[in-house]
Amino acid sequence: MKSIQLTEQIYSYMLEASLQETIIQAELREKTASLPGSIMQVPPEQAQFMGLLTKLIGARNCIEVGVYTGYSALSVALALPPDGKLIACDVDPATTKIAMEYWQKAGVSDRINLRIAPALETLKVLIDDGDSGSYDLAFIDADKTEYQEYFEALMLLLRPGGLLIADNVLWSGRVAETSFKDADTEALRKFTLSLKDDPRVSTSLLPVADGLLLAVKL
Ligand code: CA
Repeated sequence: MKSIQLTEQIYSYMLEASLQETIIQAELREKTASLPGSIMQVPPEQAQFMGLLTKLIGARNCIEVGVYTGYSALSVALALPPDGKLIACDVDPATTKIAMEYWQKAGVSDRINLRIAPALETLKVLIDDGDSGSYDLAFIDADKTEYQEYFEALMLLLRPGGLLIADNVLWSGRVAETSFKDADTEALRKFTLSLKDDPRVSTSLLPVADGLLLAVKL
């Protein structure tokens, strides 16, 4: 075991020592913490990493599947060039209303195109519009049982060399416990395993937050 086991103390150190977060991002985190679904918000060090990846690959066109209150979308949007675009897919008008408020405050709302509809429908619309092969970065963080379908649609939409990031692939460790056989856990196991043998991608599973699976489209 060469991976460090995070404790509260080490985690606090990590944030104190290296978290780069704007005031608006911090305010959105604070606002979201009081909401019932706040567990769905990606932690700040993960969003920072996603922002770094966005810059690293020089992404201009991005897609996010699952927005919640918009923290990860905000982090990616802040990392985009001014003419960059992020299509943000979600079904919840209430949580995304909060998201839009903070995107506005941060001055990046013109980079984010929110689509309130089931994500698979939105992805199909993008494919039908001829957008295949034009996206640099995609983030999957919605219904766990639909990851495989999001992935297949996003494989069409991403350009070769485009990066796909799937969230929650370690699912609080449940994926590693054979006794967990619920639909979400099974779907995440199956999805992760399918990418391992998929010749269309090179992958890396990182124990960041709840497990991030990175896949580059070859
Ligand atoms: Ca998540």
